Amino acid sequence: MVALALDIGATKFAAGTVDSEGGVHDVRRIAVPESGVWEQCREMLRQVAGDAEVSAVGIGSAGPVDVRRGAAGPLNIPEWADGFPLVDSVRELFPGANIRFAIDGVCLAMAEQRWGAARNVSNVLAMTVSSGIGGGIISDGRVLMGRTGNAGHVGHIVVPGNEEPCACGGVGCVEAVASGHSSVRWARRQGWSGSTGIELARAAHRGEQIAVAAMNRAGTALGRAIASAAALLDTDLVVIGGGFAQSGEPLWAPLRETVAAHAGLVFLRELRVVPSELTDQATIAGAGLLALRE
Ligand SMILES: [Zn+2]
Repeated sequence: MVALALDIGATKFAAGTVDSEGGVHDVRRIAVPESGVWEQCREMLRQVAGDAEVSAVGIGSAGPVDVRRGAAGPLNIPEWADGFPLVDSVRELFPGANIRFAIDGVCLAMAEQRWGAARNVSNVLAMTVSSGIGGGIISDGRVLMGRTGNAGHVGHIVVPGNEEPCACGGVGCVEAVASGHSSVRWARRQGWSGSTGIELARAAHRGEQIAVAAMNRAGTALGRAIASAAALLDTDLVVIGGGFAQSGEPLWAPLRETVAAHAGLVFLRELRVVPSELTDQATIAGAGLLALRE
């Protein structure tokens, strides 16, 4: 059995087919279109599906989502600001298919638990740290969805010591401080001249002062958010994926130090925070799993 899987990301869309072993095939990607968003997404899905009969479709989307309405409204897609009816639109394309929909963090958490760093762990917080920050929660072996499907959207935990405005309308969210995009923005304000999170990580590895400070700032904010979330959830393990999480020790050293400084409660002493073992196809794999497990 194979599922068609769709990943609605912050900067790109991806689709592929997923088999029951977590193998991801026929992947196609497009940058998030500036207009005609659904039309281009539909074309990508048609290309991946080809002539095959599609009986199961899993969809993971950057948040916020509304799983009750099957709607997605990622903050970076203005055309979808009011919540685009993604599930109904996919159903028109593949009538009769079993369609399952969740926030991308939930797909990531499921993939990590089945195939990644969280195998055989029942209490997991999976996070993506890239241009934005998202996440998903497995508690006592069960995936937490929440009222509208946004449980685990950890990017909007407020961290102390920061007054950065956030795309959500709030102030001081961890996403506004510690995402790749936010870190680059902060470093540029301090006079750094690069433009991507990858460049910022390389500069920090070379010891460039502003880049090191940016990574310290991001790692500290992430550590505070993770310690808070872990205390709330009584979790064993936090797995972090996403491009900016691959920045190495300049980010991870302050992150681990901060978690250790805050996670003093007896039930948090065993808490582990580790990088994802999965590739950037983890959300697609998890979305496929979501559709296949029914
Ligand atoms: Zn926010």
